[in-house]
Amino acid sequence: MRIAVVGAGAMGSLFGGKLSAVTEVTLLDPWAEHVAAMQRDGLRIVELDGREATIPVTATTDPAAVPEVDLVIIFVKSHATRQASQWASRFLAPGGLALTLQNGFGNGETMAEVLGADRVVAGVTSHGATLLGPGRVRHAGCGPTHIATRPEIAASLSEVAAVFEQAGFEVHLSDDLESLVWGKLIINVGINGLTAILRVPNGQLVEIPAAGVLMAQAVAEAEVVCQAKGISLPYDDPLGRVQEVARATATNRASMLQDVLRGVPTEIGVINEAIVREGKRLGIPTPINEFIVTTIRAIEGSYAARVS
Ligand code: NAD
Repeated sequence: MRIAVVGAGAMGSLFGGKLSAVTEVTLLDPWAEHVAAMQRDGLRIVELDGREATIPVTATTDPAAVPEVDLVIIFVKSHATRQASQWASRFLAPGGLALTLQNGFGNGETMAEVLGADRVVAGVTSHGATLLGPGRVRHAGCGPTHIATRPEIAASLSEVAAVFEQAGFEVHLSDDLESLVWGKLIINVGINGLTAILRVPNGQLVEIPAAGVLMAQAVAEAEVVCQAKGISLPYDDPLGRVQEVARATATNRASMLQDVLRGVPTEIGVINEAIVREGKRLGIPTPINEFIVTTIRAIEGSYAARVS
């Protein structure tokens, strides 16, 4: 199976690197220094146990250098999903699949507009990764990957799952896409925006009582939106699940906090703002999520003017 990973940052490098050990993979990313380091020295992955592995990979900054592939994995941040899909449209085989394991609600829809809904597959992953520098990534967390299947693509997706398993990723196929995506979205809704506003690692949200109140309100709004959409979540107690994840990842800096610290655009538009948008459509008030969105937008708008 030929695979292209579009967006070889933290997660794209992790998946692309491990898949390169079992099949033919091309990593595509516009970050020239990172691609040059991978071409020169291979991709270095600091594993969960602290050991460092070096994996030879094929990496490029040039979409024209990617061969026709059976599977594209999109691992850019959400604001680059359309551009990444346009790149993918050049080399994804007519009967191939484009998979998103990105966070948030709406990436699959954007990909479908460019690539056609019949070729798009979405899922969620519990793996985590952090970029340490050009050509070097830390595998920061491990867990199952769930991918939504449907009858027309069941056979090809089983092949994809087999290749992922060979590369060391535990994969489960599910026929309930919305449950998967919203189950992960609610975790991000409760954690990402608030840690970025407060500039704290995840665990502080369950240590600081007032932060816990904001978390509970944001999650409760998202839960009402889910109920109105008829989505059955993969857990019974959304707030309990979000608190559990915050405790289990207590020292982690959520990706939105990392974005704010680096002064780059966040994924707020597909996380808390997705709740606000769906709430408006359904006539459900979502004031705490609106507050989180507006505050993050103000933080993004103030990057250039910030005093230290
Ligand atoms: P990242 O910022 O480390 O990597 C994104 C990469 O995309 C960068 O290397 C950037 O140069 C590249 N890029 C930008 N525009 C591009 C384009 N048009 N075409 C190709 N590449 C482009 O981000 P990440 O942490 O790997 O996150 C990727 C996605 O995975 C996000 O949706 C994130 O929410 C999700 N996710 C991340 C984690 C994690 O632990 N990091 C865990 C689960 C899900």
